[in-house]
Amino acid sequence: MGPPGAGKGTQAKRLIEKFGMVHLSSGDIFRAERAGGSDLGRQMADYMDAGQLVPDDVVVPMMAKAIAAQAGGLMLDGFPRTVAQAEALDKQLAEADKPLDAVVVITVDDDAIVQRITGRRSCPECGKAFHVTFMPSQRGEFCDVCAGEVALTQRADDTDQVVRDRLTAYKAQTQPVIAYYRRRGARVLDVDGSMSPEAVTDAISEALRAVCSQG
Ligand code: AMP
Repeated sequence: MGPPGAGKGTQAKRLIEKFGMVHLSSGDIFRAERAGGSDLGRQMADYMDAGQLVPDDVVVPMMAKAIAAQAGGLMLDGFPRTVAQAEALDKQLAEADKPLDAVVVITVDDDAIVQRITGRRSCPECGKAFHVTFMPSQRGEFCDVCAGEVALTQRADDTDQVVRDRLTAYKAQTQPVIAYYRRRGARVLDVDGSMSPEAVTDAISEALRAVCSQG
């Protein structure tokens, strides 16, 4: 868990390689649904582009289906984002007799988040991710990896105003989920997300290994 731009997706991808889990990102699942052009995808797009959360009655069944389709260990990224979603997840895990091993919370301050997110770009041809300040392409607006001819693009919800709206939604709706897990006695691991990506991965790995050795 963590605010938009905290590095949840980046860290999840690095951690599944180390821990042999499956990465389930609700944002990726929803972007695939909208790219498919379904009615549901179109409804979701309005919320996503406005920086608002997709309603629970859409999110919960979609994520329940994606989770149920996986037999082994899971690294959930971006879900749950409301207390109602967390309650639904608890119920599903209890019914499947699967434990919730840990809740990883990555924290980063608001100004750093806005700078991180508004600078994100990606290549529409090969998918390579860039940042205009921290990881620019040597070919400016064009990808220097695949040498594509289509300019790098920005996610529609990565603009300054939408990022601020996503942060507001995070504080109002998602931060209470962390308090919910603390109340329920879950293992909540707090990690400083302002460090380098490598240092964040190391900190999370160490905390997760300690959880695994405790059983
Ligand atoms: P992300 O890629 O995780 O930043 O998610 C992008 C957008 O998808 C969010 O701003 C929301 O509009 C939507 N979204 C992703 N996960 C959830 C969720 N668990 N609940 C509600 N909306 C979500």
